[in-house]
Amino acid sequence: MPTLRIKTTSGTFDAEDSKNVFRMYVCGITPYDATHLGHAATYVTFDVINRYLKLAGHKVDFVENITDIDDPLFERAKRDNQSWEELGESQVALFESDMAALRVLPPKDYVAVTHAMESIIVAIEKLVSDGFTYELNGNIYFRISAHLPLLTIPIYEATSIFAQRGGDPSTPGKENALDPIVWVANKDNEPGWSSKMGFGRPGWHVECSVIALENLIGRNYLAGTIKSDFAINLQGGGSDLIFPHHFMTAAIGKALTDTEFASAYVHAGMVGLDGEKMSKSKGNLVLVSNLLKAGIDPMVIRHALLSENYSSDRMWHEKTLQKSEVRIARIRSALARIEVAPTEKVISEIAANIANNLDTPEALLALDDWAEQTERGEIGGSVGELSRFIDAALGLAL
Ligand code: ZN
Repeated sequence: MPTLRIKTTSGTFDAEDSKNVFRMYVCGITPYDATHLGHAATYVTFDVINRYLKLAGHKVDFVENITDIDDPLFERAKRDNQSWEELGESQVALFESDMAALRVLPPKDYVAVTHAMESIIVAIEKLVSDGFTYELNGNIYFRISAHLPLLTIPIYEATSIFAQRGGDPSTPGKENALDPIVWVANKDNEPGWSSKMGFGRPGWHVECSVIALENLIGRNYLAGTIKSDFAINLQGGGSDLIFPHHFMTAAIGKALTDTEFASAYVHAGMVGLDGEKMSKSKGNLVLVSNLLKAGIDPMVIRHALLSENYSSDRMWHEKTLQKSEVRIARIRSALARIEVAPTEKVISEIAANIANNLDTPEALLALDDWAEQTERGEIGGSVGELSRFIDAALGLAL
């Protein structure tokens, strides 16, 4: 298996650099609405990385969080007159069944913020006692200024994105407009937890830093035990997490451990629908569960997601599924033959394509070529070998 090389926000990541355990953390869902195609594209992307690394002989430690403490979740629960715990649990169950249908291998753990609360509080208390934070209106803010030289976009742009993605740059009295909140003082009847910072709940970014470190490094990560250059190998998510989320989790992670947080940051592009951005507010989300309910073969959905490059923003159209349906049918019919075209070459082509920055579109074209060769009557291949490989590497069980 060729070495996996992936383009990252800061260059190229080479899996050979991590000979031992590969520690991968992927930012998970906020369980207030079902899995849409954007989520699915992201999780299928990291699934291909996970599968490839395992095939290449790495031991992969993979953790994903569930942000089950968040404003949208509380708002939606209130709107529907439902408890936020119940809503969260039902949406997590739906997410897990969507992922299983798409053959996304589950992480070692889906860690819910509510289940990690004790550790998150201990970590924030440490940030406070180490002087990385300050209090304002009962909330605790993390001082980001030391990390701002690492920012790759201009401050004005960062400030605007920060405001759009949960930040509060214009709160009067902040030391720096970009300081993220790490502890939110309790308001109204929102859920809260007791801590040295008062009764409240953690901010989003610190949750991910702590869940990643505790579950991939171990409970004693706060004791300065990390001896490598980076705490974890890869942090992943959708490209809307590049800033502020991954920037902030990295800064907080560094403050907690005195070690750089992740060696590589990998991001999946966004999925739009018929020329428009897919978003909750536009009401044009395509839900995986609805496609499945409509009888769409989950392998067709997965093929469609893999048929475009993971890192570019893409548009989803009705014909996206139709095209994949035709291609899948053709591959299935080739795989059903007793005599098939040689399989060794297509297997090594697919592996090389995935290794080349997850070029799954090319890998699927190689599979089409093989089906065509089989239709032309070429022989000498092994159906079992190829179908096992495409299942293991691409998650396509055909
Ligand atoms: Zn995260």
